[in-house]
Amino acid sequence: MLFLTGEEKRRSFPERRSEIGSEDLVKDPQCGTYVPARSAFKADVKGKTLYFCSEKCRDSYLAKNKNET
Ligand SMILES: [Zn+2]
Repeated sequence: MLFLTGEEKRRSFPERRSEIGSEDLVKDPQCGTYVPARSAFKADVKGKTLYFCSEKCRDSYLAKNKNET
């Protein structure tokens, strides 16, 4: 015999929300601020992609990085 609860499986209706969770936060290694990867300033350093909150931070970091041997 089948055991039926009488409960219908409802489709979860799509909610339109702003998708905050889909935004990746990346850390600016220069000042430690977390910025969304989408709007971050990118720089490739030694094969690694780094993200910065501003051009200023990027430039500072790159300048600092260059001084290292
Ligand atoms: Zn910064």
